Amino acid sequence: MTDPATEAATRLAEIQARIARTAQIAGRKAEDVTLVAVSKTHPAERIAPLIAAGQRVFGENRVQEAAEKWPALREAHGSIELHLVGQLQSNKADDAVALFDCIHSVDRPSLVSALGKAMDKAGRQVPCFVQVNIGAEEQKGGCAIADLPALLAEARAANLPVIGLMCVPPLGIEPAPFFALLDKLAADNGLAGRSMGMSDDFETAIMLGATHVRVGSALFGARG
Ligand SMILES: *Cc1c(COP(=O)(O)O)cnc(C)c1O
Repeated sequence: MTDPATEAATRLAEIQARIARTAQIAGRKAEDVTLVAVSKTHPAERIAPLIAAGQRVFGENRVQEAAEKWPALREAHGSIELHLVGQLQSNKADDAVALFDCIHSVDRPSLVSALGKAMDKAGRQVPCFVQVNIGAEEQKGGCAIADLPALLAEARAANLPVIGLMCVPPLGIEPAPFFALLDKLAADNGLAGRSMGMSDDFETAIMLGATHVRVGSALFGARG
């Protein structure tokens, strides 16, 4: 059995190399692609080796779980950038603003207004992505494409620092057209950030303009 520290360092180096190679092919700089290591469901003991290997940006999908794991990890390892990649309930906006450095899942007017108020109250501006339901899937989070301009206008009115768009394409079909569509929507709306691509498709996403890739299982192994 390899020790956890070596295994984490090896996996991280592999993903970084794939990001660098893909960025090069796409004529982009590797530094312009942020690797968000999605640590949801994994305990602190699995996360610490990755921090030791140099990873500083992490993603969680639940406020509660992040609040249980990250204060101690931050205490032990110093400055970490923590991103919320999962759906957020409006009544958890205060907690999210206190805990996270970036929120990828802003998708409706009620959440825009809750986050705007929470940021005002906390005196803390947390960069946000607006999540788009890019495959128009019934069950999925994200704002409908048709509603995007109105939601962005509401976010501007609420002084929310929106830095880009985020999507999770439909499972089981080729994601490239959806990434291309998100890239176009971001460009049309004058937004620089594109949060797209996960373990199975982050290279495709980088080819199509991803600035933030959210990688879980390729770094941590399968979730239990
Ligand atoms: C879990 C999750 C990821 C990471 O998924 P992997 O396939 O494990 O890389 C990325 N984005 C979101 C929104 C997630 O919930």
